[in-house]
Amino acid sequence: MHHFDYRDGILHAEDVPLPALADRLGTPTYIYSSATLERHYTVFRDSLGLKDPHIFYAVKANGNLGVLMTLARLGAGADTVSEGEIRKALAAGIPASRIVFSGVGKTEAELAFAVEAGIYQVNVESEGELDLLSKVAAARGKRQPVVLRVNPEVGAGGHAKITTGGAANKFGVSFSEAERLYARAANMPGISIQGLAVHIGSQILKLDALEAAFRKLRGIIETLRAQGHGVTRLDLGGGLGIPYQMQAPYAHGPELLQDYGAMVRAVTEGLDVELGFEPGRLIAGNAGILLARVLYVNERADKRFLVIDAAMNDLVRPAMYDAYHEIWPVKEPEPGLAPAAYDVVGPICESGDTFTTNRLLPPMAPGDLLVFKTAGAYGATMSSTYNQRLLVSEVLVRGADFAVTRPRQTYEQLLGQDRAPNWL
Ligand SMILES: *Cc1c(COP(=O)(O)O)cnc(C)c1O
Repeated sequence: MHHFDYRDGILHAEDVPLPALADRLGTPTYIYSSATLERHYTVFRDSLGLKDPHIFYAVKANGNLGVLMTLARLGAGADTVSEGEIRKALAAGIPASRIVFSGVGKTEAELAFAVEAGIYQVNVESEGELDLLSKVAAARGKRQPVVLRVNPEVGAGGHAKITTGGAANKFGVSFSEAERLYARAANMPGISIQGLAVHIGSQILKLDALEAAFRKLRGIIETLRAQGHGVTRLDLGGGLGIPYQMQAPYAHGPELLQDYGAMVRAVTEGLDVELGFEPGRLIAGNAGILLARVLYVNERADKRFLVIDAAMNDLVRPAMYDAYHEIWPVKEPEPGLAPAAYDVVGPICESGDTFTTNRLLPPMAPGDLLVFKTAGAYGATMSSTYNQRLLVSEVLVRGADFAVTRPRQTYEQLLGQDRAPNWL
């Protein structure tokens, strides 16, 4: 479900025609729809069918201030993986009491920042981190609420690089260590151990791996309780996938969420814990597009290259994860127009800067606008200035209104960070 549709032959973001945005702001530009963000958040929340779900939106999917503020208004908390993300969530008006801090490599300074900010929960991923956090919190006269992230030895996800729950992955404490560490945590001066967390991967479209992981966590909770430990929280992570291709068999609708909600309720039935969720991609993915312009159409004997002004530094998912994004022309193709096969490429000096090969698109010419669909998650947040390209602008649309929530970087900003060594 999204709010990017053709009206009178022109692609709109809600009620805003995209050519107007391109003229005002230039390209490439990320465009986010408030209506889609709100819809995804509320559909997810309602499909859980729980009285008081704690939803911590995963900021790394899309940390745009406008996006975070929109979700904060709906009551969302934040799942963060760095001090920068905690700061960003706070700046967006998400209270510390709704922020959790995940990640396998938190530094002492980051843990100190989190403790001092008074965040809701640290999702601890190793024994070393537990020791360090206890020391950091105790030194400040505090006991930090913690859940222990368990690696359930069940991995899942749309690509090897986004699978996190397998035994070979770097995340979480091992299944067999969980009980020992929980018992240790219960006696640490700076730790208030509350429960367990799990997150097994991203872009998960089948629920069986998630269910297997959740059942394992339930088993550990029952064992811990039998040993006399208190367990009040269970954080079930994120990872639900979204349709990157609209046609069957890839398409899926709210049924996946209904099934997920029912599965979660069944697995946690009678467990009497407060449940937490960390959706990222699910909320932001289909709420964003990347708008770009065609620079050149380069014809070869056997190939046709569409060279556009966006590149892998702006949207790295195709190069990094072999990801598929639908590409839609901004001008609606005339019915019956024969499509042509294009390799869609960016200006960067490496062959990896290829968004897709042999994609059938309506005939395109220099100056034409196109969009990458489903670019709202892991799009702008993963961008870089590779090739000394400017970070692109980001826009939040609401009805017929739009706001530039992140202006395009300037060359002064890009080059102004450089410092010459004093010996040259
Ligand atoms: C990345 C991440 C998420 C969000 O994953 P999505 O696939 O975007 O839902 C949630 N929790 C943790 C710990 C993560 O690392």
